[in-house]
Amino acid sequence: MRALTVTPGVKDSIQLENIDQPSPGSSQALLRVREIGVCGTDLDLNQGFYGEAPPGSNYLITGHESLSTVEDIPKNPQGITKGDLVVPTVRRPDNCMTCVHGESDMCLTGNYKEHGIKGLHGFGSDYAISDIAFLVKVPPDLTDVAVLLEPMSVAEKGVYQAFKIQERMLWKPKKVLILGAGPVGLLTSYLLRLKGLDVVVTATRASDSLKARLAQRAGATYVNTMEQPLLSLGKFDLIMEETGSAQIALQATGMLNTNGIMCFLGIYAPTEAPEDIGAFYKDVVLGNKTFFGSVNANINYFRMGLKNFSEIQRQFPGILHDTISVRIPPEHFQEAYSPNKDNIKTVIRFQN
Ligand SMILES: [Zn+2]
Repeated sequence: MRALTVTPGVKDSIQLENIDQPSPGSSQALLRVREIGVCGTDLDLNQGFYGEAPPGSNYLITGHESLSTVEDIPKNPQGITKGDLVVPTVRRPDNCMTCVHGESDMCLTGNYKEHGIKGLHGFGSDYAISDIAFLVKVPPDLTDVAVLLEPMSVAEKGVYQAFKIQERMLWKPKKVLILGAGPVGLLTSYLLRLKGLDVVVTATRASDSLKARLAQRAGATYVNTMEQPLLSLGKFDLIMEETGSAQIALQATGMLNTNGIMCFLGIYAPTEAPEDIGAFYKDVVLGNKTFFGSVNANINYFRMGLKNFSEIQRQFPGILHDTISVRIPPEHFQEAYSPNKDNIKTVIRFQN
């Protein structure tokens, strides 16, 4: 079968190989992969920044965002059968307290595994395997957009956690700032528009770019920060930081309203601390402000994402479909790995 592989730690090692089809264990399903999505993590894997092959393998099959058809599956309590459409979650738990509790996204040890990233092959191949307990069944009417469920689960977790934390008091947010209009940023904007919030999305693309138009179709305001400075946008009750830029994140901390909350979803490079950290701490205290980080998502957030996908389809028809800007066959994989700033989400289609 065809498989997109990288050699962990080796730059530009991505290639399409012909390898043997995997054999599922007794608690696993054999999946016929339809599509995988390519994200920044995949590009980083191909840069050799991280990644870990499964034990005994010198390569890692990439692809953690995926949609498959079940090819073979033993009888299971979830009621998933051959022919069902499924999205597997990415992370597999170890035996720490939170993992055992079903929250592998909150793993205490770091000894979890992740399909296509850390210690388990991904889904970028004609066939793949996953534990049955981590499959989310997808309704047929979401077939053409469900490959976006994994990035959506990341948005769901950040937003859910922010609202959960804010149960610490009476909180009625009105204005939301989303920094960054990549796939997760846009999906976050659709999600928060479903809640009826006043959403501003910022990025550096032009005001008539595809990103801008998608945000606007969901009723959000798009701001190109090359034209309008971030700090001129006022104060916000909720800020979702999705650029991964420490500089932008730092600027935005001062834009949080009293009692507000800011969620960090990026991977930040090391940088020097601001000169006046004291003024920042004072502002945090006097404004009862909360800052928190969020990574990965467990199966519950995938399920929330599916429900909200149906609602997004109803309220903003076609928007999820158009968020996938490029669909290519596996043989054209290099297109997905050469940066193109006008792309939003590239999907590699293994089977129609
Ligand atoms: Zn754990």
